[in-house]
Amino acid sequence: MKINILTIFPDMFAPLRMSMLGRAIDNGIIELDITDIRDYTTDRHNRVDDTPYGGGAGMVMQVQPILDAFNAKGYGGEVLYMSPRGEMLSGDLAKELSEKDEITILCGHYEGVDQRALDRLGAREVSIGDYVLTGGELPAMVLIDTVARFLDGVLAGEESVTDESVYSGLLEYPQYSKPREYEGDEVPEILLSGNHGEIDLWRWEQAVALTKERRPDMFRKYLESEPELSKKQKIILQKYL
Ligand code: SAM
Repeated sequence: MKINILTIFPDMFAPLRMSMLGRAIDNGIIELDITDIRDYTTDRHNRVDDTPYGGGAGMVMQVQPILDAFNAKGYGGEVLYMSPRGEMLSGDLAKELSEKDEITILCGHYEGVDQRALDRLGAREVSIGDYVLTGGELPAMVLIDTVARFLDGVLAGEESVTDESVYSGLLEYPQYSKPREYEGDEVPEILLSGNHGEIDLWRWEQAVALTKERRPDMFRKYLESEPELSKKQKIILQKYL
């Protein structure tokens, strides 16, 4: 998958070269192309922003350098503009984007971007939450990370993206690792039993309990989806209705 980024702070994307995403880039699963919009400004002072028409605080990123950068690089695919007024990033949207061959992400700064750039690029606005950040670079990295997890070969063989919290319809059960006992705190006995049927049932119940407590909205949706449950699960579920 080709991922293009238009930004005025290309160095902010260094974290993408690390860990699992770094491996995905090294292995050619993701082809990352980052463009510094400032390289394309025709302003003799190298500026990429100016004051808003109509007045008001702050500066607006100008249309010329953005469009010239986009065209010069031959970027294409779905164009996304990271923006607090966009549609909310979700697992469904990440999965949809992961099925594209190419996406181009525009990162805003200051008060945002001249509307004509967004209109001409046909940009789809995407928000990562109801709060405002100083720039679109962190939101772009959040989007890229969650999209990448849906790409074949990014997760280790035995991991499945849909087993995780949220995507499975429930929040994840608590996890434990060595040592078996830490300063008197024991790992739950069931996890040492070797009985995988009972372990799965215990984990499922923990997931149900956590989801009901922390995300009643998600729990309601889970029930409405009428999940296929075993007899034992149906009995356990009664406790949480
Ligand atoms: N004036 C804009 C508004 O009220 O919608 C906010 C501009 S914000 C300070 C600067 C840039 O940060 C935006 O252009 C956008 O690219 C990015 N940004 C800020 N919050 C975001 C969010 N929640 N999701 C996605 N991008 C965001």
